[in-house]
Amino acid sequence: MSPARHFGAALAVGALAAAAAATAASSPAPTVVVDPGHDLRANPATEPIGPGSSVRKVKDGGGTRGVVTGIREADLVLDVSLRLRRLLRDAGVQVVMTRTRTARVSMGNVARARIANRAGASLFLRVHADGHTEQSVRGSHTLAPALRRGWTDDVYSASRRAARLVQAELVRASRFPDRGITERSDITGFNWADVPAILVEMGFMTNPTEDRALGGPAVRQRVAHGLCRGVLRVLRRAPSACGV
Ligand SMILES: [Zn+2]
Repeated sequence: MSPARHFGAALAVGALAAAAAATAASSPAPTVVVDPGHDLRANPATEPIGPGSSVRKVKDGGGTRGVVTGIREADLVLDVSLRLRRLLRDAGVQVVMTRTRTARVSMGNVARARIANRAGASLFLRVHADGHTEQSVRGSHTLAPALRRGWTDDVYSASRRAARLVQAELVRASRFPDRGITERSDITGFNWADVPAILVEMGFMTNPTEDRALGGPAVRQRVAHGLCRGVLRVLRRAPSACGV
């Protein structure tokens, strides 16, 4: 977030209130930024975990890989994200993708957050799959920004609400165990976001059952559909617009 933005927002409150009725009437298409995690290659360079922070983190460790299928996380999350884009567009939502191919060194998480900020996204939805040293660990999981003054206070509540709505639809769609919501203070892409941000971990690619399921088009489409329903709930629109 930026203090200047808040100052401007405070000055503009009157004008915004006056314009509210007209905005509600025309109901312009909201924008959602869909962020498929990682890319073809990891990025070992570092970046500050938040604005002004001396704590730095690697830009991208590279993601995980299917223990049975051998599928790269970057490829799985892109495929689900492209399916989601189609569903959201059909439902009248504008979609900006942080990437549409798996072909480069990962851009890192500050860059991803900046894409969401620039788009003025109603939601910055980050799509990932999980990995664990223990193959038995499984389930769907959503991360949200922890509250930190100056970094996430402007997006904390809206992100928390989005996490709750999207996690419920994700679990229903994946049919994996519900690992709930975790607030994180160490996620660079959250700390740099000036818009509501969440990160879904669809399932564990290190768990044979979930890796096999996510390896096929049926479960991928189901999960994309669940994410679409969750996003529409976040936007206070009818989730039935995602189709059946
Ligand atoms: Zn990941």
